[in-house]
Amino acid sequence: MSTESIQQHDAPLDQHYDAVIVGAGFAGISSLFHLRKIGLKAIILEASEGVGGTWFNNRYPGARCDIESLDYSLSLSESIQQEWKWPERYSDSRSIQNYLDYTVDELELRENIRLRTTVTDATYDEMKNRWTTTTGDGSNVGSKFLVLATGVLSAAQMPEFPGHDLFTGRILHTASWPKDSVDFTNRRVAVIGTGSSATQLIPLVAEQASQLTVFQRTANFVMPARNGALEAATDQEWKSRYAERRAKARASSNGHNQEPPHGPGKNLSSSERDRELESRWEAGGLNMMRAFTDLLTDTEVNDYASRFVANKIRQTVQDPETAERLIPVDLPIGTKRLCSGTNYYETFNRPNVSLISVAKEPIKGITERGMTVGDTHYELDDIIMATGFDAMTGSFLRIKVVGRNGQTLQDHWEGGPRTNLGLMTDGFPNLFFLSGPQTPSVFSNMATTSEMHAEWLARFLKDLGIANLSTIEPTQNSVDAWVDHVTETASKTLYADSRNSWFWGANTPGKPRVFMPYTGGVENYNSFLSNSVNDNYSGFVRA
Ligand code: FAD
Repeated sequence: MSTESIQQHDAPLDQHYDAVIVGAGFAGISSLFHLRKIGLKAIILEASEGVGGTWFNNRYPGARCDIESLDYSLSLSESIQQEWKWPERYSDSRSIQNYLDYTVDELELRENIRLRTTVTDATYDEMKNRWTTTTGDGSNVGSKFLVLATGVLSAAQMPEFPGHDLFTGRILHTASWPKDSVDFTNRRVAVIGTGSSATQLIPLVAEQASQLTVFQRTANFVMPARNGALEAATDQEWKSRYAERRAKARASSNGHNQEPPHGPGKNLSSSERDRELESRWEAGGLNMMRAFTDLLTDTEVNDYASRFVANKIRQTVQDPETAERLIPVDLPIGTKRLCSGTNYYETFNRPNVSLISVAKEPIKGITERGMTVGDTHYELDDIIMATGFDAMTGSFLRIKVVGRNGQTLQDHWEGGPRTNLGLMTDGFPNLFFLSGPQTPSVFSNMATTSEMHAEWLARFLKDLGIANLSTIEPTQNSVDAWVDHVTETASKTLYADSRNSWFWGANTPGKPRVFMPYTGGVENYNSFLSNSVNDNYSGFVRA
């Protein structure tokens, strides 16, 4: 569907919604589907020009999912999951966005989606028990329930280097890539950052640019993705038992069908460990995370796996100094999200690619014609910011959300997010967070977990009986208990001591150092959701 036709179908606004949903990614789309199914009048407000969330906004070359395509999809409709053909084992952003566009059209959801509509404020009226949501152009939208499905990796961070405005070339950010393809032929390009997005785009930009300089603060582990065409036999096998596959994903630790670990690495011999690690390296992508059950709890096992991958880097990168710079230091493997890419380490063997460490000597500033690090000036035509996101809470806190007694969400979460089950917070009645902090989100196949959330939300509202319900909110005790549980669960893992990651808010200046995702696994989390239903939602008060 063209942008023009999308525009014509944008939903008009009124004041009488049961639910306003913010965000048209996997979580928002699933929520709209399920809330409509239980008879609610709902609308999605979406800042971007199209649906797809992450996959609409992140259009940089190489943007690709690290969960296999057949798994990273929704089960909302049997006919869609049977009919949709994924071309590759791991889908690129364009394919996933096309898939979500198709889903929205097939399920006739588009009439309830309003694009190019940024939510700036949301205020709860305690007299009327309703939310007023304000958009960028000053319009107000009224609803009983407010659902923030704004994404944990959607609030892009643009670093403010001195001289930014002086640069005469192009400055691009991976998370707001231009719609038309960007040509780097004969250009001197800088990439700032070596996280997930950077490791995907660097090999492709290197093929075009005359010179590519990569500025790295901290190295990350990058696994070979081993992408390829999706085999017909795999497609058929999945489609012949999709329900079973979906159930398996929900009963797994990370919400997908990847082969689980065979057991702990602790008591294995070196050759047994090597065999397992080699097979995971060959399988590619996130398979490495599932080498051993104690990979993230036993320091010695983790060190062994980290050394295994470090040796792979040394074997691949010809220049020994560059190889050492690419090997993460003080980073137990897996305690930052593993990157999955194609030809990442090989790219540093190209004569037109160089790697500059800015760990000790940070970027001083941007000039008219380049960038300065220490005493060195780099002449550049393009600067690509692969500087990530104000992760986990950024998109929620960029909206001025005001709850009971005029309290803002920013104040309420000053010391870190506070939720019951990641879904609601105390003092903010009828407000829901989808796929947010204190849920398995970023440790999971988020297509699976966003659907779990949307189903729970619809079930919750249906069970409570919407017509006779004025307010629903979690008790302070239930919120305290969930915050404690999230913290305690993480404290038993190696994440507890690896504070230099966005899981801890370390990449965002001024953010409290609090561990934000839930490490207990999708299966356990799913049990908590089911238990809340069976307990008649005892952690919540209704009026
Ligand atoms: P999003 O997809 O982030 O959608 C949120 C939407 O809310 C966006 O469209 C945004 O524009 C909109 N929005 C935000 N604030 C406002 C506002 N104030 N007003 C209006 N609209 C607003 N997950 C995986 O499971 N596997 C992967 O391999 C993987 N790879 C990723 C790669 C990249 C580059 C990124 C950025 C993320 C990746 N993720 C991956 C995580 C990915 O975000 C989730 O899988 C999933 O797409 C999240 O869906 P969502 O609906 O929760 O949020």
